[in-house]
Amino acid sequence: MIKLHDKQFKPFLSEADIQQAVKKIADEVARDYKNKTPIFVGVLNGAFMFVSDFLKQYPHPCEVTFVKMGSYQGLTSTGIVETLLDISEDIEGRSVIILEDIIDTGRTLQQLVHLFSNTNVKEFKIASLFYKSEIYNGEYNIDYVGLEIPSSFIVGYGLDYNELGRNLREVYQLNQTDMINLVLFGKPGAGKGTQAGILKEKYNLKHISTGDVFRYNMKNGTELGKLAQSYIDRGDLVPDEVTIDMLKAEVEKNADAAGFIFDGFPRTAAQAEALDNFLDSKDMQVDATIALEADDEVLVQRLLERGKESGRSDDQDEEKIRNRFEEYNQKTAPLRKYYEAQGKFHSVNGIGEIDEVTKRLSKVIDSL
Ligand code: AMP
Repeated sequence: MIKLHDKQFKPFLSEADIQQAVKKIADEVARDYKNKTPIFVGVLNGAFMFVSDFLKQYPHPCEVTFVKMGSYQGLTSTGIVETLLDISEDIEGRSVIILEDIIDTGRTLQQLVHLFSNTNVKEFKIASLFYKSEIYNGEYNIDYVGLEIPSSFIVGYGLDYNELGRNLREVYQLNQTDMINLVLFGKPGAGKGTQAGILKEKYNLKHISTGDVFRYNMKNGTELGKLAQSYIDRGDLVPDEVTIDMLKAEVEKNADAAGFIFDGFPRTAAQAEALDNFLDSKDMQVDATIALEADDEVLVQRLLERGKESGRSDDQDEEKIRNRFEEYNQKTAPLRKYYEAQGKFHSVNGIGEIDEVTKRLSKVIDSL
């Protein structure tokens, strides 16, 4: 086990595993490009070790250059990738082969494809040492893959965690066992958002509110926002596939979090199962589901009050509020059994002063 910044990492791939993957790609490319003198384009920073070892294994004439990409992730689920160092070589009519250390969501790759689509290269191929096939959602087909790996966070051999770990000869995986992942459960107005805001500070967790992400997207007029708007306006649930994809993207954007508070997710059986499968694929799990219980009539009053302050249209109309309760009773309440069966369900009285309720929640969390 090694420590980088605040996180523990455990061994994942040995030097031999890595070199075998490098050789696999080098052999495949060598077979296809024997007489073509390709230009290899390494993607900085992460690929520098891979490029170096790859070239030592590549037996035929070739050239090498680099581009540098940086990705910035704001609140939205689509990160923006910037080109920091452009291609300087004359690449017209040449065979270009990108050398990437890792492909996960495919955002950087998309930007690369875009970068080269404006050039007159003869052909354009992608080789990636590591490939997270489970979470790749780009259109471009990866031409050469060294090793398919699960989607957990890795460092070493050029890859970093906040710039540390690039010098490691092996690849390490984030050790997730000390994570806490909580699901806050409860009807609209039960205080999930308020309590999550307090608990995330207290326990150093990342708060993901599906409602907040939808509202952020609606406010900014994104595709996701437009899609969600009509459902939310009626007090209906947004379809599962849309919501599940969005949730996954939010978790992936925060691969280095110490744990998550899921607020407003899952709200259906399909979402609960998807969450379990997804977390499982990342060596993570839901540790506890805590329900904030409150009486319907109290909640209606709270929501109408909140609607006046926030301007949220779904909080201003009693009929929409009652429809959301109805959705909860039909689709979300049955999840209680799902989590009870796993021994993870806890119930907390949601009526009282805010810090009273926080104390009740903390008692459950501290007992985990
Ligand atoms: P909230 O802020 O959690 O009350 O969410 C506001 C609205 O966003 C809900 O009434 C739904 O229309 C939508 N929404 C939030 N989370 C989900 C979810 N997990 N599944 C489907 N729709 C959701």
